[in-house]
Amino acid sequence: MERLYIDAAAIDFPAVSVIRSRLAGVPVEILDGPSAVFRCVEAASDPIAAGKRVLYLAVNRGRFLRPCPGTRNYHCCGYQILHVGAFCTMDCAYCILQAYFHPAVLTFFVNHEDLFTELSQTLAERPANVRRLGTGEFTDSLIWEPLSDLNARLVSLFGAQDHAALELKSKSTAVDRLLGLPHNRKTILAFSVNTGAAIRENERRTAPLEARLAAAEKSAAHGFPLAFHFDPMILYPGCEAEYEEVARAIFRRVPQDSVAWVSLGTFRFMPDLKPIVARRFPASKIPYGEFIPGADGKMRYYKPLRTALFTRVAAAIREAAPSVTVYFCMEDDAVWREALGFSPDEKGGLARILDEAASRVCGISI
Ligand code: SF4
Repeated sequence: MERLYIDAAAIDFPAVSVIRSRLAGVPVEILDGPSAVFRCVEAASDPIAAGKRVLYLAVNRGRFLRPCPGTRNYHCCGYQILHVGAFCTMDCAYCILQAYFHPAVLTFFVNHEDLFTELSQTLAERPANVRRLGTGEFTDSLIWEPLSDLNARLVSLFGAQDHAALELKSKSTAVDRLLGLPHNRKTILAFSVNTGAAIRENERRTAPLEARLAAAEKSAAHGFPLAFHFDPMILYPGCEAEYEEVARAIFRRVPQDSVAWVSLGTFRFMPDLKPIVARRFPASKIPYGEFIPGADGKMRYYKPLRTALFTRVAAAIREAAPSVTVYFCMEDDAVWREALGFSPDEKGGLARILDEAASRVCGISI
């Protein structure tokens, strides 16, 4: 970390002193608003890389909980995002956050009492649409582990109720500080996985697949429910057999009854991501696949190619772990029927399918 920026409005929050003590030696600057951070990052030769080397501590003045933005025409999982911060210290070629924030700056919200007030009130109301929540949409959930006790507090809060599950999603292995907590199986430790070739070519500073699986195995041994996300799957010659082998490797390491769900999603992107990948990851071949625009404006692999890959990998998962729920992130009926043999609507919808999986594996009441 090259520099810690603290918004003047954030300076008195307890989380700030914790982070300052854990980043001892890193130069600190106090600012009125983010403009100076933005200027500094934008002046760098690679503003995206520069945005990962600084940390901006700020107050979130909006809501912490918000529904995941699904899209009409695709089956959406009805997930709630817990917005704890933004951007990431790891660096993946396909990362949508590179094009989502302008500019992208590693940011952590420190008004945790506001977060816990909002979260506790919402959980107390037990709304039917808030059964699965996660922090891993605008950032990686576990990169904050060395800096903050937020995850530990969240794990304990969720462990004290019985109708919602928290998913912490990561490409890191930073689970150790969570293992002894009273999680009561209400926190799912989720690992994004990919083939070794895709990780080497596209995921800088992430943990190797073997290390992620070892962290998953350790988490399961401490009673944590798990999830795995094959997302984004990258098409290249021979990838099908390699993704099948990743699926088998997972279930050689962890018991299937510890796994809440496995998601499959192929690489998709808004067109403005392509020049960023080409510039920042010249060795990556991901922008040069056979893509067509989807109903949400995102570019996707040609549907028969997606479906063929999904069909093979879903079959490998079912063979290794017949009881595990497999789902697709943002796919239509035709893909579901061909790759899994049913449409989510036949089972009450995707949100219902995942709520039932969380009920079975995490014991939430639905
Ligand atoms: S780990 Fe996730 S959030 Fe971080 S750079 Fe990779 S895709 Fe983006």
